[in-house]
Amino acid sequence: SKDMGGDAYQFYTAEMNAKALQHLILDNALHHALERGELQLYYQPQLDLVTGQVCGMEALLRWQHPELGMISPAEFIPLAEKTGLIVPIGEWVLRTACAQNQAWQLPGRPALPIAVNLSGRQFAQHNLAQTITRILAQTGLAPDLLELEITESTLIQDIQTSISMLHELNALGIAISIDDFGTGYSSLSYLKRFPINAIKIDQSFVRDIHTDPNDAAIVSAIIAMARSLGMKTIAEGVETNEQLVFLQSRQCDLMQGYYFSRPVPAEVITQMLNEDWCL
Ligand code: C2E
Ligand code: CA
Ligand code: CA
Ligand code: CA
Repeated sequence: SKDMGGDAYQFYTAEMNAKALQHLILDNALHHALERGELQLYYQPQLDLVTGQVCGMEALLRWQHPELGMISPAEFIPLAEKTGLIVPIGEWVLRTACAQNQAWQLPGRPALPIAVNLSGRQFAQHNLAQTITRILAQTGLAPDLLELEITESTLIQDIQTSISMLHELNALGIAISIDDFGTGYSSLSYLKRFPINAIKIDQSFVRDIHTDPNDAAIVSAIIAMARSLGMKTIAEGVETNEQLVFLQSRQCDLMQGYYFSRPVPAEVITQMLNEDWCL
C-alpha cells in the first residue's frame, strides 16, 4: 500500500525465498553475459562406430561467470527458457557454432556436420527458418553441415506444429536429431510422422547397459526401431569400452561420450582433426 512508502521494497524482498532471489540475480547476470563475452561453446566429437573416426561434433554452451566460475547449462538454460533470454542466446550459439564449423572447413579435411541444441522456446519461434537461413548466409556454412538437436519432450508438445516446423527446417537442407530419446514417452506412431534423420539415445539408458537388462533391451529396441524407420542412432554418454562393444554389437551408428572425449574448447577439436584422432 501507499503508506508503506520506501519500506515496500524491503517488505517484498524479505518475503522472497532465497531461490527466487538467486534466480533474479542470475537472470540479471545472464542478461549481461552475452555482451560481456562470458558465454563460450565447447565441442564434443561424435564417432562413427564402424570406422572409428570423428564424424561430427555437438556444440555445448558454457558460462564462465567472473565471480561464480563455470555455471552448468543444466542450471542456467531452464532459467533462460523461462525468461525468454534463450532466444537471443540460442541465436548466438547458432551463429558461433556455424562460424566455427566454417572455419574448420579446410581442403583435405573431411567436411563434418556440427550439431546445435535447440530449446523449446526457439523451436516455437515462427521465424526460426528465416533466422537459420540468415545465419547460414552470414557464416557461409553449407546447410548440410548443420544439424539441430531437439528434445523428444519439445517435439511432442504440439505434434502438428512440430511436424510442419520440421518440414520447414528440412527444406533448408538441415538434418534434425531427436535428443534425449526414450525420456519423453512418445509413441511410435508419432515418431513415424516426424521427418527426422537421427535419434540420440539418452545417456540414462546407456549408463546401465551392462547391469540393467531392461536398459540393454530398451537400447537394442530403439536401435532396431530407428533402423526400420530409416533413422540413424547416436548413443550419448558412452564412458566405457563395455558400453562401446555392446553398441557396436547392436549396430548403433554413432557414439558420443567421455570414453573418447569430454566436451572441449574449439582449439582441441582443431588438433584432433589435424592429427586424425580416432577410436
Ligand atoms: P544434452 O544435449 O543431452 O548434452 C549432453 C550432456 O551430457 C552434456 O552436458 C555433455 O557434457 C554430457 N556428456 C557427454 N558425454 C558424457 C559422458 O560420457 N558421461 C556423462 N555423464 N555426461 C556426458 P552439458 O554440456 O552440461 O549440457 C547439459 C544440457 O544443457 C544439454 O544436454 C542440453 O540439454 C543443454 N544445452 C547445452 N548447450 C546448449 C545450447 O547451446 N542450447 C540449448 N538450448 N541447450 C543446451
Ligand atoms: Ca544434445
Ligand atoms: Ca541428450
Ligand atoms: Ca540428457
